[in-house]
Amino acid sequence: MSVDPDTAREALAALCAVADDPDAYVVRWKERTGGRAIGVFPMNFPSEIAAAGGALPVVIQENREPDSLGRNLLAEFYCGYTRNLADQAAKGTLDIYDAFFQADHCTQLLGAVDVVRAEVPDAPVFFGQLPTSMSDSWAGERALATMRSFVEEMGRFAGTPVTAAALADAIAVHNENRRLLREVYAARRAGNAALSSPEMQVLVKSSMVMDTREHTALLREVVAGLAARPRDDRVRLYLSGHLSHAPRPELLAAIEECGAIVVDDDLFTGGRHISTDVPEDGDPVAALADWYLRRDAVAPCPTLVKHETDWEERLVEAVDASGAEGVVVLMVRFCEPHMLYYPELRKRLNERDIPHLLIETEHEGLPVETVQTRVEALLERIRRNAPLEAIR
Ligand code: SF4
Repeated sequence: MSVDPDTAREALAALCAVADDPDAYVVRWKERTGGRAIGVFPMNFPSEIAAAGGALPVVIQENREPDSLGRNLLAEFYCGYTRNLADQAAKGTLDIYDAFFQADHCTQLLGAVDVVRAEVPDAPVFFGQLPTSMSDSWAGERALATMRSFVEEMGRFAGTPVTAAALADAIAVHNENRRLLREVYAARRAGNAALSSPEMQVLVKSSMVMDTREHTALLREVVAGLAARPRDDRVRLYLSGHLSHAPRPELLAAIEECGAIVVDDDLFTGGRHISTDVPEDGDPVAALADWYLRRDAVAPCPTLVKHETDWEERLVEAVDASGAEGVVVLMVRFCEPHMLYYPELRKRLNERDIPHLLIETEHEGLPVETVQTRVEALLERIRRNAPLEAIR
């Protein structure tokens, strides 16, 4: 399929609008369809289950408002994402959701979800305990049992059981969407610089919010109308980290404005989210359990414990495969899983002489000039091929 550039631009603009204001999309979708929306907490609940139950699954995004009403609901040492969730709950922003699903174990997220439970009392919150110790012999059984409980809960919420056929259909639809997004990522790695880093993020972020069929249709138009634009001699960077939510577009733009191009990433609102498909044969619930376990091998997450796969190994492999010349690690301030894991990443990057830079982010306040000064120093070091130490 080929479309004219105007159609592609309009499709991209529609995705940008959703990424910019996910709540407005959810409200419009509910008005348009009469359906119900499920707020999904990152990073492991399979949206396929909610979609198979006839609802709109939406991965809840950090919003851009300064925190105010929710400030006293969580301690200051919670990460910016969880404090913003509490603020959204206190301000009534999350009232657009009819229920919530959570499948994660980060203690900060658990705290934020408790706030949601208290502040949005009319919407049920379902929590399922997926295994966190991925290499244990019982992990597969536990993952399967939890996925079954999610499917049953969704059926109770929908008022009718979620059928295997509906699940299989939702899995196929989501796989198609992920495959298409991975194609765009592959083109980016291969040298097509048609989209900026903020635009790449828009493609994934909007997929976390929109009806998947609708998103895929728009994404096809973007892809079909995408001019092949070879990248220039900008320094190639890989973005890593920023657990649970999307970095601010201004931050991504600031990095590229320094004379870099982001060629790949392992961000949740990026490569991590689209990394792994759900098997389309056999029992769909077992397939979702399999997806959960396999995804951590493809894109290891520091909130989970495993023995066979390491994030640092996957990171250097991905850096090599993308041709990146350096890494920018984006760390959410107070994100304990990432903070605890970072020394391993840093050690491995140093061993491989891969220049890297750590940038900490917060919900409020982005010191663009400071960030750009530090990114410029990284780029200068890469250009000069200087001794390769982490730059703090
Ligand atoms: S994993 Fe990190 S960013 Fe995500 S909710 Fe937990 S502390 Fe926050």
